[in-house]
Amino acid sequence: MLYLIFTIDGDWKEYFDVNLAEEKRLPNVGVMQGLIKQEVEVATGNLDGRFIHFIHTSPRARNFFLNEPFMKFWRQIMENGGDIGIHPHEDDPHKAYYFQDSSRMKKVISGQVGALRKQGLNVCAYRGGYLTFSSNLIPILEENGLYFDFSCEPERYLVEGDKLVSDWRGAPTSLYRMSYQDHRKAGDSHVYEIPVGTSKGHYLYFEKSTPEIIEETALDLKEKSTKDSHDIIVSVLTHTYEYTSLDEIKNIEEKISLLKKYGRFINLKELRNIIEDLPKKS
Ligand SMILES: [Zn+2]
Repeated sequence: MLYLIFTIDGDWKEYFDVNLAEEKRLPNVGVMQGLIKQEVEVATGNLDGRFIHFIHTSPRARNFFLNEPFMKFWRQIMENGGDIGIHPHEDDPHKAYYFQDSSRMKKVISGQVGALRKQGLNVCAYRGGYLTFSSNLIPILEENGLYFDFSCEPERYLVEGDKLVSDWRGAPTSLYRMSYQDHRKAGDSHVYEIPVGTSKGHYLYFEKSTPEIIEETALDLKEKSTKDSHDIIVSVLTHTYEYTSLDEIKNIEEKISLLKKYGRFINLKELRNIIEDLPKKS
């Protein structure tokens, strides 16, 4: 069986645009509210509410999404059978990346998780900005009850100048328990990695893939799962800024309906049940 987890990273385009004035790079309440409303509508209409919204928490917008009107969306998503995660962008795009600074990451992650839990939102998913991850994050995620990581795009190797941003070379291509020593290997930590679905160098990454590619990738994954008699559990990646125009939304809905031909969309509660039933590896 092919299981899919639909995810949306709560980013806006201007955040990444180094040519804009600083104030133009900040999120706009009204615009973001409109986009997130669209996300929720797409998820309600096409996914039975099952998706994860990853809250953007960069230094530019540290607590922006932890206040109203956004908190009401996060509650609504969870009430509808969806989930909430955090998406720390500890970076200044194309200039600085702080992901290797463990004490900084620890402070940011526990601060954000604490603030959300205080408001009654039980977050348990994580995705690094730029799909960044390092093994020293594993104990930090465990301490904060973030047992599901979605940062892996298998084979991703992103370097900017002399800085390593993201390295997922050699990572497994379906759900695995991470090794404390190497996040790209299976091991005995309590954090599960759910990689972005991939086959033949293509990904279930909507922005980078045509409907044809999405369908081909899903078909490959489904066939592999049948051939190996093994469940495949992967994620599907989109961003909040893709929910802007009707055309974009139509395109997203088309891709979702193609994926439904081959796999089943689940939420984190269903994922927990599936993990319990997985054969234990010796
Ligand atoms: Zn992002």
